[in-house]
Amino acid sequence: MLASLKRAVLGSSTLDLRRLILLLALISAFLMLANSLFASYRVQREVLIEKTLETNYVYATKVALTVDEFLHSAQQQLQYAAGTIANHYDDHSFLQAEAVRLKRQTDSFNSVAIVDDTGVVRATDPDLRIIGDQLGSAGALQSLGERKPLISPPFVSHTGKLLLTVSQPVFDANENYLGYISGTIYLEEPSTLNRVLRRSSHRDRSYLYVIDSNRRLLYHPQAERVGTIVGANLAVDDIAAGKSGMMRVINSQGIDMLAGYALVAGTDWGIVLQLPVSDTLKPLSELLTRVLLNALPLALLIALIIWRFARAIAQPLRRLAESATTMDRPETTSEIKQTLAWYFETANLKKALLAGIELMHGKINKLSEDVQTDSLTGLSNRRAFDYAIENWRDDHRAVSLVTADVDHFKRVNDTYGHDMGDEVLRRLSNLMRSCSRSGDLLCRIGGEEFALLLPDTDLTVAGDVAERLRQLVERTPFDPVGNITISLGVAHWPLNVQSIDELLKRSDEALYRAKRNGRNRVETAT
Ligand code: GH3
Ligand code: MG
Ligand code: MG
Repeated sequence: MLASLKRAVLGSSTLDLRRLILLLALISAFLMLANSLFASYRVQREVLIEKTLETNYVYATKVALTVDEFLHSAQQQLQYAAGTIANHYDDHSFLQAEAVRLKRQTDSFNSVAIVDDTGVVRATDPDLRIIGDQLGSAGALQSLGERKPLISPPFVSHTGKLLLTVSQPVFDANENYLGYISGTIYLEEPSTLNRVLRRSSHRDRSYLYVIDSNRRLLYHPQAERVGTIVGANLAVDDIAAGKSGMMRVINSQGIDMLAGYALVAGTDWGIVLQLPVSDTLKPLSELLTRVLLNALPLALLIALIIWRFARAIAQPLRRLAESATTMDRPETTSEIKQTLAWYFETANLKKALLAGIELMHGKINKLSEDVQTDSLTGLSNRRAFDYAIENWRDDHRAVSLVTADVDHFKRVNDTYGHDMGDEVLRRLSNLMRSCSRSGDLLCRIGGEEFALLLPDTDLTVAGDVAERLRQLVERTPFDPVGNITISLGVAHWPLNVQSIDELLKRSDEALYRAKRNGRNRVETAT
């Protein structure tokens, strides 16, 4: 899985430090951003839910108080009317006028009826045509039985309307019960109560309903639901149990809701204000989207900075790593020197690489020097001689060659021993050094045979050099051996030979001629 992730992110190219740093930084930046967004989302969400619950509760309490005040004032109106009609209970037109006043003066009741102590209707407002009817409804029987101010539970009338009655008993001056006066409120029709609830029923996106302890809806913004019984709902359970409060509930229709609810004093009603959780959280998603959009430019800038920084970190390491694979190339040293090693690890790596290359080159130089040096005399050896000839051939450079051989050297060895012979050879090479120029190459090409390669030197000058060397050796004492002599041959390329490879041969021929002609002399090739 990691491999496929790598392929997806990086393509098929090799994983390098720059990509690794970039990937690491971007992943951690992304995780940090996501984490802080998620944490703030959770906190905000909790706060929003809590606040909404509280607001809904406070508002439900306020509406419950308003409803309570309304019912109280309705009761007071009836109480005042009861006092007024007590002395005119037989005066039909007086009762009628009072019923009309009660209905018309305020909008509290949808209808008004005045009933005698046997349950027969004495007077009503003009819209209600039940004068003389004997009432037998539960509300009527309760009013007659209890003889005290009452608010009936909501019930469905014989006309099919959901209604409730507010009633007040009527007593004469001698406290004799005369009957009761009642005002009816149709819950689904316009009235003060309906208006109060309708006005309060929507707050922001919350909506309000009223329910009684039998779970019957007394008011709901969807009018068709009024009168129906509400199913499973924990807030409604609380109201049925006479409790106010707030909670997150799944309502009877399966919607996740935030509900605040309060009881209306003197009734078994509860006012519920609720808002779907999804609606509560809608502003939060918008807020987060806005936060993300606002954070985006800076996030892009940070990504860019990280990218540049990753490059700055990786580049010197990459260049050093590349240089390390090509340490044998001559330009590698200058490449390493040009690498900007701006932090500790690369600086040390750079130093170590440069030291390594220097060491390596030193070793190689020493080795090639060793390979081309004669260990006894410190002069160049035969290999160096061949190498030089090769180079000069390629450069088409004129060169003179002087070869020298010690005369009767066997005798030195025989008389003074091999070690002394070696010592003589060493001192002889020092003499040769002393009469050579800086561009000349001095070689020991055989046991006691030497060669002087003199570039850009013509034959006459080379002959002079040979003669000077011969004289110098002749007059220099080699204690305890005494004086020794050498024979020399001189040749020039291209003067004496077609090819530089024949130069040694021609010079040697001249040398043997010098031997044959009596030794301790210089002969020049012809
Ligand atoms: P000439 O050249 O005059 O004809 O006589 P020579 O005695 O020098 O004869 P030749 O050149 O043939 O002999 C060379 C001798 O040099 C033989 C050998 O013992 C000696 N020799 C060669 N290499 C070394 C060396 O490295 N050290 C010592 N001590 N002697 C060497
Ligand atoms: Mg010899
Ligand atoms: Mg010799």
